[in-house]
Amino acid sequence: MNAINRIETTPALSALPVAVIGAGPVGLAAAAQLLARGLPVRVYEAASAVADHIRAWGHVRLFSPWSFNIDAAARTLLEQSGWQAPAPARHPTGAELIADYVQPLAELPQIKPLIETDARVVGIARQGFDKMKTAGRETAPFLLLLRNQAGAERQVLARAVIDCSGTWSQPNPLGASGLPVPGEHEAAAAGLLAYGIPDLLAAERAQYAGRRVLVVGAGHSAANVLLDLGRLAQATPETTILWAVRGASLTRLFGGGANDQLAARGALGRDLERLTQDGNLDLHLGTEVVALRRQDDAVLASLRDRSGVLTEIVADRIIIATGQRPDLAMLREIRLDLDPATESTRMLAPLIDPNLHSCGTVRPHGHRELAQPEPGFYIAGIKSYGRAPTFLLATGYEQVRSIAAALAGDIAGADDVQLNLPETGVCSSNLPLEAAAETSCCGTAKPRIRVKATSSAGSSCG
Ligand SMILES: Cc1cc2nc3c(=O)[nH]c(=O)nc-3n(C[C@H](O)[C@H](O)[C@H](O)COP(=O)(O)OP(=O)(O)OC[C@H]3O[C@@H](n4cnc5c(N)ncnc54)[C@H](O)[C@@H]3O)c2cc1C
Repeated sequence: MNAINRIETTPALSALPVAVIGAGPVGLAAAAQLLARGLPVRVYEAASAVADHIRAWGHVRLFSPWSFNIDAAARTLLEQSGWQAPAPARHPTGAELIADYVQPLAELPQIKPLIETDARVVGIARQGFDKMKTAGRETAPFLLLLRNQAGAERQVLARAVIDCSGTWSQPNPLGASGLPVPGEHEAAAAGLLAYGIPDLLAAERAQYAGRRVLVVGAGHSAANVLLDLGRLAQATPETTILWAVRGASLTRLFGGGANDQLAARGALGRDLERLTQDGNLDLHLGTEVVALRRQDDAVLASLRDRSGVLTEIVADRIIIATGQRPDLAMLREIRLDLDPATESTRMLAPLIDPNLHSCGTVRPHGHRELAQPEPGFYIAGIKSYGRAPTFLLATGYEQVRSIAAALAGDIAGADDVQLNLPETGVCSSNLPLEAAAETSCCGTAKPRIRVKATSSAGSSCG
């Protein structure tokens, strides 16, 4: 267990606010928790409005109901203002999460003056101490370099920093190696690629309806995209769905079904399994995209399977849903201890690393697990999970409750972490099955899916 992340509070330091980076749901929960502890706080948000990352996927319905999506300190403040909580069992879309919770919270008279929008944090350091310098470091205030959209920069001081800046704006590239594939930048610049979850059924419908669309990825984002494409194909039958998955098993994505304690998450996997069984998509299991080449208004994608066989397919659009990664550049002057694989806070890695288990169930954790070698600096929210995909809002709310208590000196309260997360129903007991499928594309765990061949080059599994 890490040492308590205690910060020295010289008079000058204690007069400074705690800086929260990012006005997403967890950053704003941090503000509410710090306010409840009587600590001064400033929230710096890069965009011109709060919850900017969620706006990008506002059309997607959350799989956790409202009862999991509201922070306790935020709820107290909101209820004092006469706000009515949405029905606890309902599942909001991202847009509803903003409209019915995040925005009202941000507009409260206690919270609004704390938020500065158009204030991107581009660097954090200790005032007068570069990363190498140790003696006296812990009593120096944090120095944050802010940049607005016009490029103007300024510096602000803080006694502590909670980085809740999320990961959504740093999508993973197409390459299975973690690097962009040849041709990726050119295809992106030509508007033929999209990262994340485009709004296929409304705002961006015209770009996809009746087209050949290749989806790459095997997480919840890919599931949402594929299900929307399935709906689009029902309305516009010329729409062709192509799906490339690097792994050889879809067990994890199809999920725990009825065993998932979040029914909507279980349903997502089940619906996707049904879509694949209908046979209306070309599934390329155990393949990676190795290169893209523009062909007029389309892209020729080269797919390589595990035996090295190449397949070429033509798509009008490619949707890359291969996850996100944290932006660590702004933390260059901070002494960090991150897990080398997940880029998450090191102590969380064994709980969330998808290489180790599939359930994504985390034990309660708080300020101790989130402490960094830089006293007073924490990463919270989805960024604390680094590249791991299983973060839930309820986790983030408990993280910032514990951190706020620690910063206020209430170590007993900070240590009393309580987190009861809904299980996915696909826990570690399934891993050997998945591992078998991952090591051999002809393994026994081959899913019950009709795989439509798309070109002359087939896989070695036949
Ligand atoms: C499609 C999708 C569905 C999800 N569904 C669920 C669900 O059903 N239930 C659930 O519990 N969780 C769900 N999650 C996971 C998670 O709860 C969300 O990603 C949530 O938005 C994380 O909140 P956050 O506050 O940590 O980060 P974010 O919401 O990503 O907020 C980060 C904020 O920081 C700002 N920012 C970024 N960089 C900077 C910077 N340098 N300086 C200042 N500001 C910056 C951004 O503009 C943004 O406003 C889902 C995630 C996705 C992507």
